[in-house]
Amino acid sequence: MSVGKGRIVYISGPVVKAELPGALLYELVFVGELGLFGEVVRIQGDMAFIQVYEETTGLKPGEPVVRTGEPLSAWLGPGIINQVYDGVQRPLRNIFELTQRPFVARGINYERTPPLDFKKPWKWIPKAKVGDEVAPGDLLGVVPETPLIEHRILYPPLYKKGTLKYIAPEGEYTLNDVIAEVETDEGIVQVKMWHKWPVRRPRPFREKLPPIEPLITGIRVIDTLFPIAIGGAAAIPGPFGSGKTVTIRTLAMYSQARYVIPVLCGERGNEAADALQGLLKLIDPTTGRPLMERTTIIVNTSNMPVAAREASIYMGVTIAEYFRDQGYDAFLMADSTSRWAEAMREVALRIGEMPSEEGFPAYLPTRLAEFYERSGRVVTLGKEGRLGSVTIAASVSPPGGDFTEPVTSHTLRFVGAFWPLDAKLAYSRHYPAINWLMGFSRYVDTVAEWYQKSVNTDWKDIRDEAVRILTREAELQEVVRILGTEALSEQEKHLLNAAFLIREGFLKQDAYHPVDVKSLPPKQYWLLRLMITFYRKGLDAINRGVPAAALRELDLVKRLPRLRMEIKNEDYQKLVDYEKELVDAIENLARQYESQKLVAKA
Ligand code: ADP
Repeated sequence: MSVGKGRIVYISGPVVKAELPGALLYELVFVGELGLFGEVVRIQGDMAFIQVYEETTGLKPGEPVVRTGEPLSAWLGPGIINQVYDGVQRPLRNIFELTQRPFVARGINYERTPPLDFKKPWKWIPKAKVGDEVAPGDLLGVVPETPLIEHRILYPPLYKKGTLKYIAPEGEYTLNDVIAEVETDEGIVQVKMWHKWPVRRPRPFREKLPPIEPLITGIRVIDTLFPIAIGGAAAIPGPFGSGKTVTIRTLAMYSQARYVIPVLCGERGNEAADALQGLLKLIDPTTGRPLMERTTIIVNTSNMPVAAREASIYMGVTIAEYFRDQGYDAFLMADSTSRWAEAMREVALRIGEMPSEEGFPAYLPTRLAEFYERSGRVVTLGKEGRLGSVTIAASVSPPGGDFTEPVTSHTLRFVGAFWPLDAKLAYSRHYPAINWLMGFSRYVDTVAEWYQKSVNTDWKDIRDEAVRILTREAELQEVVRILGTEALSEQEKHLLNAAFLIREGFLKQDAYHPVDVKSLPPKQYWLLRLMITFYRKGLDAINRGVPAAALRELDLVKRLPRLRMEIKNEDYQKLVDYEKELVDAIENLARQYESQKLVAKA
């Protein structure tokens, strides 16, 4: 569908300048004889600057540019799960079959390889009836798309409300079949199981809710120390080899979110291919079915065109919002937003934007803010008012680990949690290598109420005590480095022992160990509480004359670091019992020392 035509004036890398009267900002266009995908990103009079989503070599001035009149949009409907798309939603598996090449051939457009399969029949179960008043967001029917996700077909947000005149009976339909007709004051709307939504426009909802419920990830250092709320956003800086891929994989598999959408953005082709292979093979731990049955993956590697990388983040978050609107908790993992920002920088320079900090365009912070603002827990449109959410975990790759560089420093303003992966910790095989001294979460106070209600009333107290012990450990280690252990009091030595136990027995978590890999909140709480009880009761014993070394040598204490691997989530009561034994053992030890003192005195 063409609404106007123009000509290429010049080509500069991924950007084309064209004479294209009437072009709209963010309009989708087809560029050159091959009909390459592009998006208008700047307009100057009759001139349009177009970022092209495909390799531009070979394009020549004078070749045609065709307008579509439409913005770049996500195609949303059944068939979107279990797909691997590029940044502009071309299905990679299909393109691979079509071209027999691992990377997308040029000029393959939506007509030849549409984002959704229009031939495949889907089982449709209507949930509304003729005569119903329907407004955007109302449930029309469901498609059992995969065993793990029921695709809910809603009256799309772009239509007017009206009265349902027809609803297709239960049966098999393809995406182009009309499944409902709605009479509105602007005429009859024919509804299909799919619709398009412009990727740069947030999808509407009724109300945004405060981030007060934690999104349980099963990773202890995250959930207990630096929690993320359902609908929250977190940033993960991760130097190479620090465990970013494993973290993303663990989050995808074990976090409580129902729908996951990893966006692999701008990493090197072979690394992304490895990450992709890994993701495709994952098994959903609760059902034993392929994780892909509740996943969509977006991939734009560094050897794919830079502009599509810029689009991939918007594509991902739009698809996540679409599942949010169906009442699911969606979790988007973007790796890496630094590569995304670099793509933005490259395009901005070529369209003549004034560079700001480190060459990034002045609108970098706005773009980052807009992206993170699309996370959130909402009451959706529609009469049922479902609860749905988009939670974001995004990696950043600060050059040289410098957190003051623009992408990282701006990101930190917009996210609520920060999980800095640390190369030194990874090197010493402390996994997950999240630096507990630098991490933070603004959700601690908001999720505390949930934890105190669902797990134990002193959750925050135990958590804060652990943070204090770890912070104090770092200071004491500095003292030890300069003056040696002799400079420490018994109380301080005891604190170091407690910190060691927190690190070994709580913070460390082996993603390859069947019991350790996922900790539910009760296990997390009781595990940490054991360490804190050891610290508090031990301190009391020390004041009664017990040396720190004697406490450390108790059998029950020596076993503490292994409990995370020995005790399953459902057996957390064993940890409760363990605490009683531990308290008794410390008490006995203290009594022994007290009676020895009495004997010595006498
Ligand atoms: P990155 O993606 O940051 O380059 P990876 O995620 O591939 O790093 O991690 C590198 C290696 O570190 C993994 O192959 C694995 O052996 C180890 N590793 C990382 N995280 C964990 C973890 N939570 N538990 C056990 N091993 C881990």
